Parts: sequence; C-alpha cells; structure tokens
Amino acid sequence: MRKWLLLLATLLLIGVFYNRFTAAVDMKGSIQPENRYPTETPTPENDPPENELTIEVEADQVNKGNLLLVNEILAVPPNDAEAEAVNLYKHKELRNGFGLLDNKVRLSPDMTKKFSSMIKDAAEVGIDHFLISSGYRNDEEQKALYDQLGSDVAAFPGHSEHSLGLALDIGSTIAQMKDAPEGKWLKENSWKYGFIVRYPEDKTEVTDVMNEPWHFRYVGLPHSAVMQENHLAFEEYLEYLKERKSITAIVGKSTYVVYYFPVSSNTTLHVPTIGSYEVSGNNTDGVIVTVLKS
Ligand SMILES: [Zn+2]
Repeated sequence: MRKWLLLLATLLLIGVFYNRFTAAVDMKGSIQPENRYPTETPTPENDPPENELTIEVEADQVNKGNLLLVNEILAVPPNDAEAEAVNLYKHKELRNGFGLLDNKVRLSPDMTKKFSSMIKDAAEVGIDHFLISSGYRNDEEQKALYDQLGSDVAAFPGHSEHSLGLALDIGSTIAQMKDAPEGKWLKENSWKYGFIVRYPEDKTEVTDVMNEPWHFRYVGLPHSAVMQENHLAFEEYLEYLKERKSITAIVGKSTYVVYYFPVSSNTTLHVPTIGSYEVSGNNTDGVIVTVLKS
C-alpha cells in the first residue's frame, strides 16, 4: 500500500515538473521570432502617417489660387487669367440664363459655369433678369476705366480683382442692383455658391472701397459660408484664418477643415486631416489649405 502511495507521489511530482517545463516552453513559444518581428514590411520613418496629408508647396504658391487678396496695397500677381478668359458674346453656348452689357465681356468658362449654376437656382424662384457687365479685365482695360471713372470708382490698374479672373460685375435688366430682385437674391444667396459681395455697405472702412452691390468675387466653399456666418469682409477673414491657424466648417453635408500656413520658401506641409484638398495663397505671406474631409 505504501509503495503505491510512493509511486503516486512520484508520478504527481513528475507531473508538476512536466507542467512547469511545458509552461516554460509555452511562454518561450509565445515570443517566437515570427511574432516578435512581424513579417510585413516595416514602415520607413519618412513615410507619412495615415491620418495626415503631406503637401509639397513652392514659394510662388503664395501668389496663386482662389483666395488671393487684391486691394489698393496688394497687386495682382502674374497669372493665367487672360489666357483662360473667353469672349462670352462669341461663346453663345456659355450664356445660360443671363445677358451681356456689351460684346466685350470676357470670363473663363469655369467661372461662367459657376455663375450660371448659381443663377439657375434664382430662376427657379422667378428671378431671371441677370446680366454680366464685366468679367476679366487686363491692366490696359483697367487703366482705361480708371482714367474714365477715377480712383473713387475704379481700382488702380494692377490692383483690380477683375484682373485675377475671379470677379464679375453683375447687373439686372430691370433695376439697379441695390434695388433689383437679382441684387437682393445674390446678396442673400451667393455665399452658398462660393461667391461673396466683396465690397459690402457696412465694411467700407475695412475694404476702403465704396459699397458695390454688383461686384462679386469667387472664393469657393466653405470660405464664402464662413465669411457670411461670421460677418467678415475678405480682409478680415484672411486675418481670422491666420489667428486661428485652423477652422472646421460644416456646409450642408460637407465638413471642411481649413488651415493657414506661413510660407516663405519651397516647403512640405503636414496637414492632419485626410480628404480632397485645394491650396491657395493669400497673396502676402502664406497659403490656405482647404480639406474636404473624407
Ligand atoms: Zn467689379
């Protein structure tokens, strides 16, 4: 009987040691080389993180894009607007829903389409007496206007938004813009389409330009919406972006994140939001990156 007990005790001891041994092996096994060093290719340190956009910008990007500020101090930088502008009188296919003041009006097809799709919505509520009185103007044309109208009304040549190809003077065939349904509708709704009233009545001290209810400037979304919401003139909005560094704007179902970066030389920007994006200079000291979040 004692022999059996002794044998049982011995077997138990062996069992304990065996268990401990295997446990040790298992522990070792849990840090096998293939687990410790994953077989997938390691990420090199200079690859961007997945939640960041890496954008290469050149120094001259400061002077390109839809958000260039042009005023009596800041001149129009060299651009392609004249090459892109077409004579709308000759391009009947682009004249959808509006008339022309004369047969000299020039504007890019892209800007013309943006304008047409905006006023299509106005036409649905019965407002459809729009005309374009001026689109793109080169320095020579601006000089002729300046000489004719003077500095109170016309911008100095080289300092007109019309020479960026991003501004247009809109009229109504039934009344002056300040009284016309066309002017009222645009004042209330143009921000939804990326346009702003560039020289509003209550911002003349900021813009240093008299109220021009006919002059519309394209800046794109969400910028026009943020300016509308916060009651900012374009000058004020660009300052606001510089102070904030980044803002988030929700327009309809779209979420945008807008960043300001100072730029003085060719550089790489690291933008901590993923999505489709646009880069524009501010025409002074930096760029604005607009990301439509995906
Ligand atoms: Zn104008």
